[in-house]
Amino acid sequence: LSTSKEICARESEVLAKTQKLPYCPIAFKSGKGALLYDYEGKEYIDLLASASSANIGHGNEEVADAVREQMAKLAQFSIVYFSCKEPVEYAEKLIELYPGDNNKKVLFSTTGSESIDAAIKLVKGYTGRNKIISFNGAYHGSTFGAISISAISLNMRRKMGAMIPDVHHFNYPVCIRCPYGKCEESCNLECLKEIETAFSLYLPPEEVAAIFFEPIAGDAGIIVPPKKYVQALHELCKKHGILFVVDEIQQAWGRSGKFFAIENFDVEPDLIVMGKSSGGGLPMGIVMGKSEIMDSLDAPAHLFTMSGNSTVCAAALKMLEIFEREDLVEQSRVKGEYFKNKFLELQKKYPEIIKDVRGLGLSIGVDLCDKNTTTKIIYECQLNGLVLISLGESTLRVQPPLVITYEQMDKSIEIIEQSIKDLID
Ligand code: PMP
Repeated sequence: LSTSKEICARESEVLAKTQKLPYCPIAFKSGKGALLYDYEGKEYIDLLASASSANIGHGNEEVADAVREQMAKLAQFSIVYFSCKEPVEYAEKLIELYPGDNNKKVLFSTTGSESIDAAIKLVKGYTGRNKIISFNGAYHGSTFGAISISAISLNMRRKMGAMIPDVHHFNYPVCIRCPYGKCEESCNLECLKEIETAFSLYLPPEEVAAIFFEPIAGDAGIIVPPKKYVQALHELCKKHGILFVVDEIQQAWGRSGKFFAIENFDVEPDLIVMGKSSGGGLPMGIVMGKSEIMDSLDAPAHLFTMSGNSTVCAAALKMLEIFEREDLVEQSRVKGEYFKNKFLELQKKYPEIIKDVRGLGLSIGVDLCDKNTTTKIIYECQLNGLVLISLGESTLRVQPPLVITYEQMDKSIEIIEQSIKDLID
């Protein structure tokens, strides 16, 4: 297999279609920073960061050295039975990053989805309650627990039969399409009242274990909720003894201009769930939060042989060192402003094509006018060396590695503008 075409053709024969969403037939061979190269040597600017799992950028030599060193010493030994230094050191660092006090603990797994399942078990274990609230448009992952609290695609549930019971979905505050016709000034958090109404009519709040919330709704289209909504939701949780769990799998690691997206809302969650970028390019899932919640279940309620893998933790520790040294979280904030402004300028030029630009840090959503236009623009961009995909029908997902350069951002805008011009000419 030596060409992108061959690899993609063979892939469809040997890999199950369930893990493939349809995009351009491109196969990547290598990457450096925010650049990727296919098997023909063609260069691409990466605006996807492997679905926000390569926030540190591709081909990082320091992380690669840390991985090699750890693999040669001891790849891993299951922490289910004995102890290793690397996961303990990584957990200590993560606890320092958690908003609020340090009375926190960490539970490792290997993917975001598994960590969501862990959080579901922990909130039930701690509260002794069974009901869970989550949101329409949410993507929390592909394990049974995570599917049960997701509500974004029927394909996740078809042929699956029973999900975990007692999950209640409410509307996420999508202000740009406010179903109550309100704007920022006139908003009285009507959408939050839907939950309060449910609490008074059919959903006893004292039976609700937790609310699972994406601090920025990622796959629903990079929707940033109003701060007053998030704070009021948190207050509602506190009032009823409901745990507030944030899914930071896509937004943590500086993506939003803060280490955790929830820090933009000045709220201290009971549990934080992470994945994607958490393993420095290797598989890693994390739940962390208040110690009493984290210790509410006994082994083997949620353990995996490979959890807390020493090599992954060594990679992550090195990544964290680089994050701090290079101030990548602040870089995301500053570059995000720059990039968002560039998209806003483009919107001024092409208001009939670009309908909305929003986001925090380098988590930017750009709404185009319709599905057909979006498909064409994305296809053109990919042909012209830009890795860009859409969310939903017509939102461009702009989440590059945080190490993207200003030149690369400018070039990306040029490629997108050219594809718009080609379309309207
Ligand atoms: N939650 C969110 C917000 C996500 O974006 C994702 C991945 N797209 C997941 C959960 C699931 O993570 P994973 O694919 O690592 O299981």
